Amino acid sequence: MRTRILKTFATAALMTLTLAACATGQDKVELANGVKLIEEGELAVCTHLPYEPFEYKQGGEIVGFDVDLMDLVADELGLKQRTFNTPFEGIETGQSMNTSKCDIAAAGMTITDERAEVMDFSDPYFDATQALLVNKGSGLNSLESLAGKTLGVQIGTTGQQYAEANVPDDVEVKVFEDLALLVSAVKSGSIPAVINDNSVLYDYVDKNPGTEVSVEFDTGESYGFAVAMGDNDALLETVNEILAQARDDGTYDDLYQKYFPSANSSS
Ligand code: GLN
Repeated sequence: MRTRILKTFATAALMTLTLAACATGQDKVELANGVKLIEEGELAVCTHLPYEPFEYKQGGEIVGFDVDLMDLVADELGLKQRTFNTPFEGIETGQSMNTSKCDIAAAGMTITDERAEVMDFSDPYFDATQALLVNKGSGLNSLESLAGKTLGVQIGTTGQQYAEANVPDDVEVKVFEDLALLVSAVKSGSIPAVINDNSVLYDYVDKNPGTEVSVEFDTGESYGFAVAMGDNDALLETVNEILAQARDDGTYDDLYQKYFPSANSSS
């Protein structure tokens, strides 16, 4: 009896899954080269704002290193890029892409094994490592130095994972919704230190000289763009070709200079 009920349940669940998969597949427009799109004429890009200089608003427009790279892909396919600002958790769990909210995610997102189980990543396009942002002269330059204090992290990020796995027991980890809230909490003095990717923190330090990056943690991360699991190999192929071409013809270096003017070499 019990087994029969369980079996019925399992079959029903499977049917729902299959129907959902068909529905998503049918809804999409397919280009001659096999690239699938949610909307004709558009490359729908999910991102999470602000993550300066990768994606942020300037004069009402969404700009940034990721945005410019996605423009190269859109141009190649004869499309217009449309950017959707969405919580990072939806992106990093694959939900935004797997439920057809967007064709691709461009969000300074680190390629991890866990994420690669729920989305398909492009080739790596940028290197990163975790780092600590503090106010100048705080003397806080390690996780141990935060004993009895609070460390801020951004929700759903590799920084949150790293902090939770590595802080001593007497450090309280406080979660923030986005990068802007995180870094301004340090500047205002409401929290002594926060962890995030090195490039975004160095960008903040350049614009806020009272702050500094006091230490980097060698997490050896690489960013990738990501599409729905098993559903858009052709789009990934285009992205990888464009990335390779941009590195070959100097476009990648130009963008690097544009968005990371104080860094001395491209990653
Ligand atoms: N690279 C980090 C991660 O993937 C942070 C990305 C972000 O906050 N946009 O978790």
